[in-house]
Amino acid sequence: MAEVDASRAGPVFEWDTPLFRMAHTQFEQALPYAGVSDMVAERLSYPERAVIVSVPLRRDDGSIEIFPGYRVQHSTVLGPTKGGLRYDPEVSLGECAALATWMTWKCALLQLPYGGAKGGIRCDVKTLSLREVEKLTRRFTSELVREIGPQSDIPAPDMATNEQTMAWIMDTYSMLKGYAVPEIVTGKPISLGGSLFRREATGSGVVMVAEQAGRRQGFELAEKTCVVQGFGNVGGVAASELHDRGARVIAVSDVSGGFHAERGLDIPGLHAYSAEHGSLAGYDRCERITNDELLELECDFLVLAAREDQLTGANADRVHAAMVVEGANGPTTIEADEILAARGIPVIPDILANAGGVTVSYFEWVQDLGRLFWDRDEIRRKLADKMGTAFDRVYSVAAEKEITLRQAAMVAAIREVAGALEARGIYP
Ligand code: GLU
Repeated sequence: MAEVDASRAGPVFEWDTPLFRMAHTQFEQALPYAGVSDMVAERLSYPERAVIVSVPLRRDDGSIEIFPGYRVQHSTVLGPTKGGLRYDPEVSLGECAALATWMTWKCALLQLPYGGAKGGIRCDVKTLSLREVEKLTRRFTSELVREIGPQSDIPAPDMATNEQTMAWIMDTYSMLKGYAVPEIVTGKPISLGGSLFRREATGSGVVMVAEQAGRRQGFELAEKTCVVQGFGNVGGVAASELHDRGARVIAVSDVSGGFHAERGLDIPGLHAYSAEHGSLAGYDRCERITNDELLELECDFLVLAAREDQLTGANADRVHAAMVVEGANGPTTIEADEILAARGIPVIPDILANAGGVTVSYFEWVQDLGRLFWDRDEIRRKLADKMGTAFDRVYSVAAEKEITLRQAAMVAAIREVAGALEARGIYP
């Protein structure tokens, strides 16, 4: 790992939390190879803007509860900011700042004309009725009406938000403006101007990069063993795509724990069960394992598609995967990265591996602005092209500089933003 320049003070504002430190350390570890000016390094160390709101909700029982909400915009150097909204008990200013920073690098790496943003509401959706989630979403949208916009900041789904959430945001924003504004969000229902293939895009992109990484090492996905942590919009789709390509998915997990079968799991059967019961809890046609056991299984590909902080200094030496693929944002800590690098286990970083979602979000936004829609095959082909180009750039920077895939992805992304920031300069 590269030495970090200790002379730079680093981020010191209110978002200075462990997750933001992690995102910042990744940036610092790439800087020695990026060849950018001190101005660029300093400016991109900080999100540009952060908004905190308190969102009141009248609960179904008549009581009032106030929820904290956030939106952090990391960089407007390349265009409007872009990124998801999550509803989760862990949502905080620091978490949103870290995730917004990663969105900047992800968009830059894929050469999308966006900077990064992220936001959300600190809440536990499991304790709220659907009607309460709708009211919370609509009030949050009206609190953010001056911050978001089709030319300034475009939200999308993230943890515990989905097409329905985006539809409520689109409707609320459109009501406030007085006309329909489908391009205010991406990841919305097709009937409102959503894009075909957006729902599958993140999980599908994860498998596209895993396939290319396998080919670089001289093998195909078919017959390879895969473990997928998470069975939501990313992990669930990745598991299906791996299964469809003939790979053997030997374990998956969701909030109810892990499910393991060395002969390979029945992925369509697991999806059918989860759709019927709301989760995999109670599925008994395989062995039950814990989340920790799942992460330590011997396999060719370990796909991390749950949340941040999964491989840490405490468990990275017990990972028995030939390769780790980050479907979630920030699942591997700095300590784990060091341990895995020393053990020769490549990590395909989040900003490359899970970039399929925001890439098809970009296609959705472009289609909405043009009021012209593409078919599924065209979108899939465009996604494969973009993911393939980014993948090749990351691998060639890694080979040229003899650095990890994460450092290489960061170098490629930083250079992209740096070129624009040098040309624009600091205003005034
Ligand atoms: N929340 C997703 C991500 O982390 C998608 C963002 C988007 O589509 O704008 O990449």
